Amino acid sequence: MYDVIVIGSGPAGLTAAVYTSRAELKTLVIAGAVWGGQLMLTAEVENFPGFKDGILGPELMDNMWKQAKRFGAEIIFEDATNVDFSSKPLKVAVGRQVYKGKSVIIATGASAKWLGLESEKRLRGRGVSACATCDAAFFKDKKVAVVGGGDTALEEALALSKFASEIKVIHRRDKLRGSKILQQRTFKDPKVAFVWNSTVQEILGKDRVEGIRLKNVESNDESVLACDAVFIAIGHKPNTEIFKGHVELDQAGYVVAREATMTSVEGVFVAGDAQDYRYRQAVTAAGAGCRAALDAEKYVEGR
Ligand code: NAP
Repeated sequence: MYDVIVIGSGPAGLTAAVYTSRAELKTLVIAGAVWGGQLMLTAEVENFPGFKDGILGPELMDNMWKQAKRFGAEIIFEDATNVDFSSKPLKVAVGRQVYKGKSVIIATGASAKWLGLESEKRLRGRGVSACATCDAAFFKDKKVAVVGGGDTALEEALALSKFASEIKVIHRRDKLRGSKILQQRTFKDPKVAFVWNSTVQEILGKDRVEGIRLKNVESNDESVLACDAVFIAIGHKPNTEIFKGHVELDQAGYVVAREATMTSVEGVFVAGDAQDYRYRQAVTAAGAGCRAALDAEKYVEGR
């Protein structure tokens, strides 16, 4: 029996684990087969306080994991496959193995969204990617496209600029959603240009990306843009499938926090991007992980 089971191992989950294990609560982290969350796909993190020269995303996560381990948190690198919150103790399954906990912290984060085109699926890994940090180096001196108008799209464009010869950012409106500082950096970058009011109809190519078919949403005109890669950067969806029917989720699938970090089930708390569609920062996720840990600690001690 664990005092706290943390599901997820991004900044929210690992910060929660640092706090609960340091408070001497018996803590299990179900980290996921692919652990560490979205920062594992990020190169330089420049805005996490305390690292004045920045830190690599994977290095930051490795530090958080070691910090949680130092205080005795147990970590398993597998996916939680099911939960049963209908009675106490709370149960979390990893395949056939069922773990019991007095409390659970949901910190499963969110994942990149895709456009939903057949051609996008077929060419994924063959020029279609959602991670410039991972794949930009494959496209040295090539022409690439980025889809989206938020911070992720702008960051992807800037990351690609170190390798690609030309980057076209395809955005469905004529105004960017991304922050001013990233807008300024991309506007200044001579390799980056914008294709406004346009959507991707199809990704072209048989075995690898050769171009994209675009539609101008104002004129309905279609055109083809030749490129060797397309980076999709259109936002995220919460990783909350296994909680459907077990805790209250909103229409988009985000876990609803009723009071502070408490979900609709007593003893089940939530932190990070699984609940927060607004801020979605490593530092806010870490802060939420701390809050959930303190709430879980109070709950376990009060029982
Ligand atoms: P986002 O802010 O939700 O932006 C998604 C972009 O994709 C929007 O421009 C949206 O267009 C477009 N889009 C959505 N669905 C689309 C579709 N089906 N087809 C074409 N375009 C589509 O998502 P994000 O950029 O991933 O950022 C998420 C959060 O993380 C934000 O709060 C952001 O500030 C933060 N973030 C911060 C940093 C940083 O500070 N360094 C880096 C990355 C992310 P519309 O604008 O028309 O809706």
